[in-house]
Amino acid sequence: MTNNALQELFTQQFGSDSQGVVSAPGRVNLIGEFTDYNQGYVLPCALTFRTQVLYRVRDDNTVNVLSTMYPNEKESFSVNKPINAGQSQWGNYIRAVAFVLSRAGHQLSGVDLLIESNVPQGSGLSSSAALEVAIAGMFNHICKLNLTEEQIALFGQEAENDFMDCQCGIMDQLISAKGQKNQALLIDCQNLHTTSVTIPSDLSIVIVNSNYPRKLVDSEYNQRRIDCEQAARKMGLTTLRDANIDLLMQTKTEMSANEFARAHHVITENGRVIAATLALTNNDIEQLRILMTASHQSLKHDFEVTVPATDGLVQICQQALGERGAVRMTGGGFGGAIVCLCRNEDVAAIKQAVEQHYFSQFNLYADIYVCTAGDGLTVQVFH
Ligand code: ADP
Ligand code: MG
Repeated sequence: MTNNALQELFTQQFGSDSQGVVSAPGRVNLIGEFTDYNQGYVLPCALTFRTQVLYRVRDDNTVNVLSTMYPNEKESFSVNKPINAGQSQWGNYIRAVAFVLSRAGHQLSGVDLLIESNVPQGSGLSSSAALEVAIAGMFNHICKLNLTEEQIALFGQEAENDFMDCQCGIMDQLISAKGQKNQALLIDCQNLHTTSVTIPSDLSIVIVNSNYPRKLVDSEYNQRRIDCEQAARKMGLTTLRDANIDLLMQTKTEMSANEFARAHHVITENGRVIAATLALTNNDIEQLRILMTASHQSLKHDFEVTVPATDGLVQICQQALGERGAVRMTGGGFGGAIVCLCRNEDVAAIKQAVEQHYFSQFNLYADIYVCTAGDGLTVQVFH
């Protein structure tokens, strides 16, 4: 929807013009999966797919929300009463952010909101973090909370952890808040330090969404986190950040098979993120291929979060690219998307291979997005 059409829709729905728009991107993680909540390293970039929130401050305490994605559901709640979960799943993300901000003592105002997004949902590109960061950024702006990008990201994560019951780490919200055009961000999740790495202009980021339906995966996702925490505890550590393979081997007999395997993934993945950051800096596709292939194998065998459709897509794209490209699953797993890094001229080979082989093998159609890295959270005030 064009900006004008969106502003007209706002006026039509709420009876007066919007005052501005706050917008935050989805993201793709190049490498470093399930390392964030173990205080490790990740290397994501923000996408140019964004979630926009048009707003108009109200002079009461009511928050009214419409999303173009759910045209028949209007969400409404009050910020001067305890905020509980409501009927609508998507509306709960808005309540969740208002809940954590209020809980921290921030005074929120009522507001009319219209949400529009082109971030694919449920595909591992983090439409939920884009929404949380845009909503937290909107409250930060209209209520003059003076939050930093890190604080906005942390509130987004809290919303997901404490209200939506998804025990995600900080990566998705932090890259959505702090992303930079044409840059990947190496994030040290222990202290939230970030280092930007320019994505070489002759390198394409191609995301292929398997469209495999993710069902009932929150409990599996949360169980992985518990396994990691148990493994760290058995090694005498607070988090897996400080673990290494020697210590893991020494403690193997005390661990369940799952705890050992999950920790093995996290320890090896942290090493791969650092190596991949160097490889990306050097535009070394051969090294990226080795690291991303190892990451995928580790997610398949140690972390057990791939499904036949994503394994198959990785294989299809890897075969199409040969030594000229790096491919792995990306995001929370159990379906969702894969990411390929390749030379610009090889994008056509990916498209052709996916068209030729994916549907015939998995009875699903894939969506292909050729992406560039975009900016993080932005606020635009209309005049
Ligand atoms: P992902 O973050 O990988 O896209 P999630 O299941 O974590 O998948 O989040 C998707 C959910 O986020 C949707 O089911 C919906 O509740 C909410 N959501 C995302 N984008 C929007 C939007 N534009 N409008 C309303 N809700 C949205
Ligand atoms: Mg999500």
